[in-house]
Amino acid sequence: MVKRFDGREYNQLRKINIKLNVIDNARGSAIFSFGNTVALAAVYGPKPSKMSLDYEKAFLRVRYNMLTFSTPERKKPTPGRREIELSEVIKRALEPALLLEEIPGSIIDIYIEILNADAGTRTASINATSLALSLAGIPMRDLVVALAVGKVGEKIVVDLNKEEEDYNSEKLKKDPEKLKYIEYYGEGRSTDIPVAIIPSEKKFTLIQLDGEISNKELNDALNLALEKSLEIKNLIRSNILKHLSLSGNFIY
Ligand code: ADP
Repeated sequence: MVKRFDGREYNQLRKINIKLNVIDNARGSAIFSFGNTVALAAVYGPKPSKMSLDYEKAFLRVRYNMLTFSTPERKKPTPGRREIELSEVIKRALEPALLLEEIPGSIIDIYIEILNADAGTRTASINATSLALSLAGIPMRDLVVALAVGKVGEKIVVDLNKEEEDYNSEKLKKDPEKLKYIEYYGEGRSTDIPVAIIPSEKKFTLIQLDGEISNKELNDALNLALEKSLEIKNLIRSNILKHLSLSGNFIY
């Protein structure tokens, strides 16, 4: 039976790896990976803000960066348009879960580095940052959990890798070794839908869509995302609890 390019079922996430408080100098930090996509997030602050912005609540400053060695071809070290945009996207996905009004007049700096990229870097970044913020003790209503769902060819799948994001059945027809995958995915190209969710409230804080999809398929994809977000949340939660009990701290 043909399965996905990397042998997964349609509803199977890549292997998730979590490492907590990996940077001594940060108040909270975490590495979160979906398979070969590895994101590191570090949280500094809150510290008093010198800017006269919104004093009613804390201000988040997010910088997403892809390291030069994170992609098969060396990536330019200067931040591009995509990185500036993703920094904002990640910030907006996290903000609804944070109780920023509890720390007014302060600023929280978040640095995200992509160590290795194989699609889904924004979703891995949101999970890493959510973990780092909770370790830093930033007041939160709940964790934000992110993952991608999408349509590859005609198939709805979860957590697309780069090969799936680049899917094009017309191209595969020219490669005898890959021809069998058209049986699994069907004809067409790929639609990627990164989402972020507050699982306890079933609330989406981010939905982006790159490609084309029908209403029914979008509904199916978002339901799959909700279901899988609980799996990620449980994994994140058990990692935090294990970490806190090992380090002698205790919450919940
Ligand atoms: P995401 O990583 O959140 O899926 P994109 O859809 O913009 O965001 O990127 C998809 C994938 O394309 C990335 O995860 C990475 O593998 C690759 N990619 C993005 N930008 C670059 C780049 N400048 N150089 C090489 N590969 C890149």
